[in-house]
Amino acid sequence: MVPVAGVRTGVTDLVTDLFAWDEGVLLRRKVTQCALSRVCGGCGTPLGRPIAFVGSADEVARNEFHAPPLHATCADDVRRALEPSWEVVLTSGFEFVRPASDDLDPLARFQPNSLIG
Ligand SMILES: [Zn+2]
Repeated sequence: MVPVAGVRTGVTDLVTDLFAWDEGVLLRRKVTQCALSRVCGGCGTPLGRPIAFVGSADEVARNEFHAPPLHATCADDVRRALEPSWEVVLTSGFEFVRPASDDLDPLARFQPNSLIG
């Protein structure tokens, strides 16, 4: 990685600075805040378009993501900090799905609804 003036380059800093994660663990309260306030899970500032989601190949195949919406640039930071194998999808919108009481998946998740590319 080439250091760039003014840009955080340390992986430890990236993990610590992520808005919706604490030491690499998703914070449900922050995830909900990202969903309802439409702020980025990486930097905590308002989202524009496109919106990026990161997830495993399984999540991409299901089109359901547990990690909150991100700026495209923050998605790269999140992957670098947490899980480089995650894939990125871009969308112009998403649904926030809260689990039903009998849902096999107890976590809220996001369904991109207009994938780009
Ligand atoms: Zn961001």
